[in-house]
Amino acid sequence: MFAAVLSLPMLFSSQLIRIYAAIIGALVLGYSGAELWHVIEFRGFPDSATFFSLFVTNTNESWALLDNLFGFEDFLIVVGFWLLMVIMHQLLRRIKIPKSMGVYWSLMLIGVAGFSTLSYQNRLAPANFKTCSIVGGFNAYFSFLQEQDRFVGLLEKPVQFSGFIQKYNHENETHVIVIGESTSRHHMSLYAYSRITNPKLSANRNIISFSQVSSPHAHTFPALEKVLSFKSLDSNNYDLQDGTLLDLFNQAGYHTTWLSNQALSGKFETPVSVLASKADQKVFSNTMSGSEPYDEILLQAFKDATIKKGNKVIFVHLMGTHMSYVDRYPEKFNHFKTIHNTSHLTRAQQKYINTYDNAVRYNDHLIASLIDSLNAVQGVCSLLYFSDHGDEVFDYRNFHGHSDVIQSKYMVDIPFLLWTNEQYKLKNAGILKRAENNINSKYNTADFIHTASDLYDVHCDLTDPEKSLISHATINTPSCNNLTPCFTANDIHFESKLLCHRVNGIERLMEVKDDFAGFEIDLVFDSTTKTFDVNHPPAESVGLSLERLLASIENPEDYYYWFDLKNLDSLNQNDAALRMQNIVLKYNLPDKVVVESPKIDALKSFIELQFRTAFYLPDLQNYSEVDMRKAIDSLIPLINTVRPSALSQQFDAYSLLTQQFPNCDLLTWDLRFDLENADDSQFINQLVNQQDRLKLFLVRKESDSYR
Ligand SMILES: [Zn+2]
Repeated sequence: MFAAVLSLPMLFSSQLIRIYAAIIGALVLGYSGAELWHVIEFRGFPDSATFFSLFVTNTNESWALLDNLFGFEDFLIVVGFWLLMVIMHQLLRRIKIPKSMGVYWSLMLIGVAGFSTLSYQNRLAPANFKTCSIVGGFNAYFSFLQEQDRFVGLLEKPVQFSGFIQKYNHENETHVIVIGESTSRHHMSLYAYSRITNPKLSANRNIISFSQVSSPHAHTFPALEKVLSFKSLDSNNYDLQDGTLLDLFNQAGYHTTWLSNQALSGKFETPVSVLASKADQKVFSNTMSGSEPYDEILLQAFKDATIKKGNKVIFVHLMGTHMSYVDRYPEKFNHFKTIHNTSHLTRAQQKYINTYDNAVRYNDHLIASLIDSLNAVQGVCSLLYFSDHGDEVFDYRNFHGHSDVIQSKYMVDIPFLLWTNEQYKLKNAGILKRAENNINSKYNTADFIHTASDLYDVHCDLTDPEKSLISHATINTPSCNNLTPCFTANDIHFESKLLCHRVNGIERLMEVKDDFAGFEIDLVFDSTTKTFDVNHPPAESVGLSLERLLASIENPEDYYYWFDLKNLDSLNQNDAALRMQNIVLKYNLPDKVVVESPKIDALKSFIELQFRTAFYLPDLQNYSEVDMRKAIDSLIPLINTVRPSALSQQFDAYSLLTQQFPNCDLLTWDLRFDLENADDSQFINQLVNQQDRLKLFLVRKESDSYR
């Protein structure tokens, strides 16, 4: 069909072809710019979840999302990309068609090469024709529209469950279900976070907190859809049409209220509000006005809702700790402000973490305020709080936000806690006992409706006590991080930790030798001539050997060297190591050289000859957490067997590596830093002084022949 659309203009006059081409051109150009940004930011192509988070969450939230993720750098890249495309278009126009086949072919090859490099470096999630580029965009958009239709259908049909039953009598009970937003338990002191972000909830003796609850997704709607319905992780047997938690409550005759600080958006109703539409009463505080009220705006409506007589369930859907974090709390909650110069995190990253922690602390205050209001309510009362999903805030890599494409535990590990009043305790001692037994049970909120069924005594043929968090006594399984210890030889102790990045030429060496104690040099070993060629492929060799480079300075023995061996493998490792030993002896460089390679096995020959070595790790920081775990599990035995001196990877991976390889020395580089800049220079110097495991740091130094 797509091909038919593309070939359609053949039927038109040349005037129409131009218009058609212009429209298609603008569409492709606009979309591919947006897609480029998505690939940079999320390391994958847009899917229907992207459209959901853009069109569906709500307008303000979408803007906040774009505003937060679309930095000035991204802007320059996208605009640069568009300019490049326009220039290429102009150039192509001047080429006569018969001559242009070669040009088309080379452009295509350049394109293929570009994407191959990206996929080789693992910057991209797996992609195919259907999921990539504008085809995938259309597909994703259409599946998003289909889903939308499904929701509207859902709105019209109230569901009556077969086998509905309540086991006890209920009179004048008030139950509150608070759904948080983007709040990770890894930033809550209630869950052992080092900063006091939960002063109020921690002090409340009537709260049971569950320590191992995760959300099914890192996006609001896909997560809540499963949380509030029988749709689950393992099977797709049930859908929203089969009924939701609201239907269950309605069938029980509970009065239901939905209070939300997440807006209805104008044109499309948000799916979450479709779920909410079955409530007897709905209050959406966050309108299209453009201003984003703090969550406390719900407090008055909440009090009003608790006054109602009879059994009732009040849902409170918060804005929580969603981006922009700084917009989530009033000035007096600006509590965490400290920036540590000793941290390996940049100032900007630390600022972000501060605003997130402040938002978490405000969230603590807000939930405590809801509980305060309930203290004034007569009868059995409970309040359950959990977050739709978490958020990653530079917790182990250079990333903040949430995305299923690069999901990590920080995006799905959520708080889950239950507060109850004295009347509740008198009436439901059994439930509380079972809850206490299960505080350390692993649980996914995809099964939440079964827990709710237990907790609120609303059962039907679909509810399954086996899937309830509080239903049966389980053996407590506290989480333990069973990391196999991993060790490197840790024998790099150079007098200076700062070396100059990419010194691949004689001129370059002359330009930087007075400013640095050592250099990083890229080498390709030629097995036939047994020489090291100074070169960083795919750049063309300039025919400069390592020996000639070393011979060009008077006193090579006064410097340190980081040799990045580009083509070391099992076939050439012996020859390369022997040759390197020759060179080191000739120039009197023992103890001054580190040999780096991504092929850890091939470093063995160098280690046997007493060389210091660095294993260039894969870019784990760009893996999803599950893939990262798998990769690390397979790397650890290799590292423990080969025992290189240290591990190396760029600075983006630094916090991840310190967490995952706590006993290993690390070498790193970050080309964003410029030693000429006072702030950068101060940051790097403090960093290398304070981080004991960090042994070498490569910095950028601009010079005329930097290539
Ligand atoms: Zn969310």
